[in-house]
Formats: sequence, C-alpha cells, structure tokens
Amino acid sequence: EKAPVTLLGLGAMGTALARTWLAAGHPLTVWNRTPARAEALAAEGATVADSPAGAVAANTLVVVCLLDDASVEEVLAGTDLAGRDLVNLTTGTPEQARARAGWADGLGARYLDGGIMAVPPMIGVPQAGGYVFYSGSRELFERHRDTLGVPAGTTYVGDNAGFAALHDVALLSAMYGMFAGAAHAFALIRKEDIDPAEFAPLLADWLVAMAPAVHQTADQLRSGDYTRGVVSSLAMQVAGTPTFLETAEQQGVSPELLSPYFALMRRRLTEGSGEEDLTGVIDLLAH
Ligand code: NDP
Repeated sequence: EKAPVTLLGLGAMGTALARTWLAAGHPLTVWNRTPARAEALAAEGATVADSPAGAVAANTLVVVCLLDDASVEEVLAGTDLAGRDLVNLTTGTPEQARARAGWADGLGARYLDGGIMAVPPMIGVPQAGGYVFYSGSRELFERHRDTLGVPAGTTYVGDNAGFAALHDVALLSAMYGMFAGAAHAFALIRKEDIDPAEFAPLLADWLVAMAPAVHQTADQLRSGDYTRGVVSSLAMQVAGTPTFLETAEQQGVSPELLSPYFALMRRRLTEGSGEEDLTGVIDLLAH
C-alpha cells in the first residue's frame, strides 16, 4: 500500500508531480484554484477536493506547489494544519522559507521546504538528473523520503528551513553567470562567417572542462589560503583583460556583461593579491 499524498497547486510543475504519484500508485488528493486543471487528473485517478481545507484534511502528507509565497499564504489560510506534514515546493527566498517554517510550527505542523532543480519534463524521468533540495524537519524528510523520491531525486541540505531555497538560488545564480558568458561568446562570433551550431559544442565542452575549477575555489575558501594550487595568477589574468575588451570592441559587442567581473578582479589586484587566482573576488562581494 503506497502512502497517500495531498497536492495543492496544479500548474505546470504541480501537474507533472501529480502524474508521477498517480503512476506509482500513490492515492492522490488534489486541489487547484482553477478546477479545470484538477478535472484532467481526476480522469487519471486523482481524488479532487472542493477546497484547500478538504484537501489538507484528507492526508497527513500535504505538498504545496504554488506560484509564490503569497499564494501559499492565501491557499493555506483557513486549513487545519495541526498534525500535518507540510512540504512546500513553491520557490521562495530563504527568509520566506524560515518564516513559513515558524508559521507552520505555530499551527502544529511539521515543515519541509523544497527547491526544485528540474523543469516539468524532467519530473518522473530519473535519467534526466533532476532533483529537489529539501531543508527543515529531518523527521518529516525521513518519514516521507520514498514518497518524495517518486517525482525526482532528493537531496536533504539541513534543518535550517532556508537552506533548500539558498542552495536552489545559489545554483541558479551561477547558471545565469554561465548564460551571460555564453551570450557574450555568441555575440562575439555572430557577425562572422562562423556557424553557431559548430561553435556551440566547442563552447559547451569548454564550460564543462572549466567547471571543476569550483573544487579548487572550495579548497582555497576552506583553507583560507587563496594562493593554494594557483596556475593562472590574478596578475596575469588582469593583464589579459584588455584583450577581451578590445576584442569585444572590434567585434562591435558591448562589454557590459564582462566589465563588472573585470572591475572586481582589478580591485582585488590593487589590494595586493596578484599571487591569488579569482577566489578573492568572493570576499569583495560580501558586504
Ligand atoms: P504555474 O504558473 O504553471 O502554476 C502556478 C500555480 O499556482 C497554479 O496552480 C495556480 O493556480 C496557482 N496559483 C497562483 N496564484 C494563486 C493564488 N493566489 N491562489 C491559489 N492558487 C494560485 O507555475 P509552475 O507550476 O510552473 O510553478 C509552481 C512552482 O514551482 C513555482 O514556485 C515555480 O517557481 C516552481 N518551479 C517551477 C519550475 C518550472 O520550470 N515550471 C522549475 C522549478 C520550480 P491556477 O491554475 O488557478 O492559476
């Protein structure tokens, strides 16, 4: 007998989650503000509750996947969460997650926050590599681990309820930096007779080859010695920046995505850290 699940929120993500629980044989109770989205799932075996309160009353494990924290507030107001295991897969900030955890505690519920590292087509497809960061009640996580693992992999990152959101935002922030770099690279080659489809695999392979540099960064941060294992000194890298800026100018490309990072590199060098590589930039960002 599979554990029953209540799910509030049947947007693109909620619907994808719902289908995996139904397919795995978990009894599923759903509610959605726009009822039409729940009807489609009813045909696949879900029980449709006529209110959030009814859905919450149906099962111990209550999962919400709504637009934002304000919609979570709105939907769960007037439900009785006492004794419930509330799992919030709605994207939010670490502060929102911690506030939501305190709020749930006050209502007598256990609370687990989640950060989904996947898009809907990756849900229920283990080989796609998507997973969910979880933080908050370890007891809740352990109790429902198998059920939570049905839609995607699970990675528990601590009892601080804000840590799932923090990990989620940190990874996505790095992703945007990578996309920014790729945008600049494509802009550089764009006006030439270079096929973007031939350039793309070179770019992807280079990014993959450089990604393990984060392990050296971690090692330097841990030891506090930012000169450890340095192969490309900051002094050398700053000396190279005019090449990047002049090339951008020659290709008629704005340097606006690169310039802020170069400015931080120069500032660190000015402070006398020429023997380091790029880790010192992290210190400059903290304020
Ligand atoms: P959608 O926009 O597809 O769905 C939003 C859901 O929230 C719908 O069920 C909608 O109901 C409901 N909703 C919004 N406002 C309210 C409200 N005031 N009261 C009640 N219900 C409300 O979003 P997704 O399903 O894609 O995303 C859900 C969460 O998952 C978000 O926090 C998102 O950041 C996160 N996520 C999404 C990813 C994605 O790629 N889609 C990836 C990773 C995380 P209705 O149907 O009535 O409009």
